Amino acid sequence: MHIVVCIKQVPDTEELPKVKIDPKDNTIVREEVKNIINPFDENAIEEALRIKEKKSASVTAISMGPPQAEEALRRALAMGVDEAILISDPVFAGSDTWATSYVLSRAIKKLEHFDLILAGKQAIDGDTAQVGPGIAEWLGIPQLTYVRKLEVKDGSIVAERALEDYFEVIETRLPALVTVTKEINEPRYPSLRGLLLAKKKEIPIWNNDYLKLPVDKVGLDGSPTRVIKVFIPKLPSKGEIIEGDLNQKAERVIEELKKRNLLRWLR
Ligand SMILES: Cc1cc2nc3c(=O)[nH]c(=O)nc-3n(C[C@H](O)[C@H](O)[C@H](O)COP(=O)(O)OP(=O)(O)OC[C@H]3O[C@@H](n4cnc5c(N)ncnc54)[C@H](O)[C@@H]3O)c2cc1C
Repeated sequence: MHIVVCIKQVPDTEELPKVKIDPKDNTIVREEVKNIINPFDENAIEEALRIKEKKSASVTAISMGPPQAEEALRRALAMGVDEAILISDPVFAGSDTWATSYVLSRAIKKLEHFDLILAGKQAIDGDTAQVGPGIAEWLGIPQLTYVRKLEVKDGSIVAERALEDYFEVIETRLPALVTVTKEINEPRYPSLRGLLLAKKKEIPIWNNDYLKLPVDKVGLDGSPTRVIKVFIPKLPSKGEIIEGDLNQKAERVIEELKKRNLLRWLR
């Protein structure tokens, strides 16, 4: 069984105050901030490794991004994935979710064989949750999103999908794509041995000379999304903490609500 895990390198949320937007094309300037593996993608890696341990599968991590995305792939190798591939080319820069999922799907197609694709439910920076489903659409395979429990059978998977008020259990044939939530597992830390092995491992870079994708289908030219404006939303007023005992607090709340004409019916 061959599992492909899609991982995205994202800015560390602790670095958010330092994140800058390029005014030319409204994209994030990623070079100047500390980056991490998208947290949901660590869950996807962990799930792949757990399946590998049970079913003797092999796991390949792929990431599309600038050269520094190699760091994220090295961490995936240190956690225990077998192979890692970086998909990187200046012509892919500026890709929106449409173009990103297209490039990733073509890269996955280049692999000899795959049974299961795992991705995070969403990236913490772009946050669209579109890339996983996009890859499945481009490949024409079933997709199960927001999965919090996964069981692999012979030629099929059974997944528990977390929905707003309930969960749903679905079985589908393989190959299929699954996006995972945080609930699915607790990602492991890389071992010392894993870190040492990952340092030495070669990570091939697949550029567009290799993938040979039409340039009008990738990068900014291949991206139908246009970001018109990026801004930091204004915070609402700071709020007030009401002190006192329970009765005093309740009275103050009622007083404030009345002042705002929100409790006109109270005498
Ligand atoms: C006009 C425009 C230009 C953009 N330019 C750039 C740019 O130059 N560089 C850039 O990084 N982003 C760029 N973006 C953002 C880019 O579209 C998204 O970051 C990317 O498509 C992923 O979308 P998302 O972050 O919403 O991921 P989601 O759809 O929320 O991600 C879901 C899951 O898909 C997988 N995934 C997502 N992205 C990747 C990836 N790159 N490699 C492997 N797996 C992945 C992960 O498993 C992830 O958990 C641009 C967006 C627009 C609209």
